[in-house]
This record gives sequence, C-alpha cells and structure tokens, in this order.
Amino acid sequence: MSNSNASNAFKRSHDLPSYLNPEHLGPWGIYLQQVERVTPYLGSLSRWVETLKRPKRALIVDVPIELDNGTMAHFEGYRVQHNTSRGPGKGGVRFHQDVTLSEVMALSAWMSVKNAAVNLPFGGAKGGIRVDPKTLSRGELERLTRRYTSEIGILIGPTKDIPAPDVNTNEQIMAWMMDTYSMNEGATASGVVTGKPIALGGSLGRREATGRGVYTVGQEAAQHIGLDITQAKIAVQGFGNVGGIAAKLFAQAGATVVAVQDHGGTVYKASGLDVPALLQHVSQHGSVKGFAPAETLPDGQFWAVDCDILIPAALEQQITASNADQIKARMVIEGANGPTTPEADDILHERGILVVPDVIANAGGVTVSYFEWVQDFSSFFWSEDEINARLVRIMREAFAAIWQVSDEHRVSLRTATFIVACTRILQARELRGLYP
Ligand code: NAD
Repeated sequence: MSNSNASNAFKRSHDLPSYLNPEHLGPWGIYLQQVERVTPYLGSLSRWVETLKRPKRALIVDVPIELDNGTMAHFEGYRVQHNTSRGPGKGGVRFHQDVTLSEVMALSAWMSVKNAAVNLPFGGAKGGIRVDPKTLSRGELERLTRRYTSEIGILIGPTKDIPAPDVNTNEQIMAWMMDTYSMNEGATASGVVTGKPIALGGSLGRREATGRGVYTVGQEAAQHIGLDITQAKIAVQGFGNVGGIAAKLFAQAGATVVAVQDHGGTVYKASGLDVPALLQHVSQHGSVKGFAPAETLPDGQFWAVDCDILIPAALEQQITASNADQIKARMVIEGANGPTTPEADDILHERGILVVPDVIANAGGVTVSYFEWVQDFSSFFWSEDEINARLVRIMREAFAAIWQVSDEHRVSLRTATFIVACTRILQARELRGLYP
C-alpha cells in the first residue's frame, strides 16, 4: 500500500466527531494510529501487534515533599514500561506541568520504536512528574527527585529499566536518582541511569548526542533531496538540549539559523542568528526573549518563516492541521518526540515536504546513553572522538536502512522506521513466546 493510499484512509479532522478526531486524540492516540499504519507491512508478525498497543506496565506514584515554607505538597509521578522484549526498559524522565499518564505511555512506546530502529538492545520506557520545576527551589527539586526515584524503585534497575534526562531534567537530577537508588540498594549502581555527570560514570558526548544525531540524519536526508547544508536556512523550535545543540552544529557547518522559538518567544534574523551568542543569552536569561541583535516575531508567525529545514525540538503536537499548510521548509527534522500530528503528517506528505521522524531523528541521545550504560558495566571509558564516531556510524546506517525500506514500499520515513522497528520488536516477542 502506498503512503498516499494509507493517508487517504485517514479523514481530515474537521470531518470527524471530536472523539475520533486525531488532533484531539493526544500522544497515545497518535501512537496507536502510527501502529495502525504499519500493521499491513508486518506480515505474519501482525498476529502479535496487539502487544504494541498496550504498555507492559504502568505505575502511578504519589510524590509527597515538604516545601521550604514547611507545608506539604503532593505531585503525581509515572513510570511506564511499554515493551521489554528486546532488553531492559530505557527512556527519559520529564518534569512538566502538563505531564499525563497517556503522554508518558506514548513517550514510552516511541522509545520502544526508537531503540529498535537503531537496533539497541533495549525496550522502551518513560517517566515523568506533573510539576512545573521552575516553581521549586533546588532543595525542593532534590527532595522531589529522590522521593520519586524511591517510589519507582520497584521497577527500575541497571538490568530492568534505565531512566535518563528529558524535558526539564538534567545531569544533576540523574546524579540524585543514581544516589537514591544506590542508597536503597546499599551499593553504588552507576548503570541505573544515563545522562549522569562525567564524574559519576557519565559518558563524554552524551549531553550533545541528541542534537548531534539530529544534525547527522539531517545531513543524510539533505543529501537525498539535493539540499546543500551550507546554503540552507534553518528554523528551530525549542532551544534546550536538543534544539540548542542541533542549531549550533548546523551553524558550524555553514547553515544559516534564521529563527528560534522557545517558551519565552520567537527571535528572527534573515541574515542569520549568532547561535553561540543566543545560547549565551539563554543561559543568562532563561529564554531567547529579549535577544537584542534579532527581531522579535509573534509566536504564530514562526511556522511560516522562510526556511529550508524546520526542526521542532520542544514538545509534542506542535505541527498540526492549522499550521502545516504554512510551512515553507523542504524538510522537517523532528528533534522533539511526537511534534507532528498524523493529520499534519499527511498535509506535509501531500505538499512534498520530507519529514524525518522523531523515532530516528532524535535517537542519538539514547544511542550514547547505551554507550554510557556499556561503559558503566565494564568500568572502562571511551574517548569523545570514539563515541562521536560510533554515534555517527550507527545513525547513518540506521537512516540508510530506513530510507531503503521507505523507497521499497513507497511509504513515508515514519512508516518505514515503524516497519523496521516493529518487525524487530515482534520478532523478539515471537522468539521469546508467551509465558506461561
Ligand atoms: P529542554 O528542557 O532542554 O528544552 C526544551 C526547550 O523547549 C526549551 O528551549 C523550552 O523553552 C522550549 N519550549 C518549552 N515549551 C515550549 C513552547 N510551548 N513553545 C516553544 N518552545 C517551548 O528539553 P530537551 O531535552 O531539549 O527536549 C526537547 C524535546 O526533545 C522533547 O520532546 C524531548 O522528549 C525530546 N528528546 C530529548 C532528548 C534528550 O536527550 N534531551 C532525546 C530525545 C528526544
């Protein structure tokens, strides 16, 4: 089935009652639609496809902490293991005021797909706490992290499920998680989380890995569509770990970063933003807002910016049916997880805009997390050059295989990535069989 046939099977959202409207389904509904699209390509393995449509385990925890003013606060936390057929669960922890169980379920499922797409020996998992960490002091954040880690301690472990940073979590939070787990176990367990500080068994190159992966697949995809990176204009939404590093690497390669949007606002400069200066501004002021050498744009205008490559690297469901028609880029590289709704995906496809999907584009982070985990187990650490070289090789090989499947079946890169990944997951499932 060609992708346009598949996409025709999906009606536009305004034709559908709201409960069936893909734009209203949320991330888990979007993921389920992606699984529906891939099922016709799974052959005899499709008898196992139901496995992909439900998480293996989902834990909801109450996270009570004492605030600095002496009052108690309760936060809701989650850890979901979507699939562990190919190895331990692996996936980040997000602290955000909009985190929900259904969002964490979707993010855990995308981790299963991503880990299989780049052939890492991991299943998929994800965690989160519904909290705005910007409202907490450092002490409160530490108590929150430690209590959450203790609560999910029944699921995580170096051979069971290995958390990592995601939105609003960082190396320090990973250090507290590692310490809490180790204290409860009575032994230092550096392999329980990745994305740790180097001094605690973290890996060189981990901090930059996701952005480097975005840049690497961007380079590969650009070659396929005959786009010269040195002449390319780039717009980036989200200027944190992923967007900031990706923008820096594209700029270093000679591309022109014309627009950046973050939670504080949108800055634009047709002749190119000074990316190192903008990163410096963000580290001082917390946002791109007020970056004087650039124009400020109303946030809604970001999507219509004249550019060749658009990199959504903030949150999910950002490219929707209401802005996909405005996008001028020749390709979208999904740094964020789930930034494009299925309907927007169809619109971009119909308009001939190449979408490099999250499940391959942002796999660089978990790839170096895998390197970190391997290094922790062997207590033998690699050089940064070695890490970057291995990362680039894995990303290029994975991208080439996915491009070939996309060509063979005449499907989008997203469906091709799902074909490769879901086949691997379900092959493992079939070989292991059902217990009992
Ligand atoms: P981060 O916290 O470092 O940065 C998030 C960025 O998004 C910030 O610049 C923030 O200002 C911006 N943002 C937040 N809300 C926004 C809004 N409403 N509009 C515009 N911008 C907004 O997070 P990160 O680690 O860079 O993660 C970004 C995305 O990449 C997430 O979807 C995450 O799941 C995904 N991801 C991260 C990694 C990783 O290794 N960090 C790996 C794979 C995928």
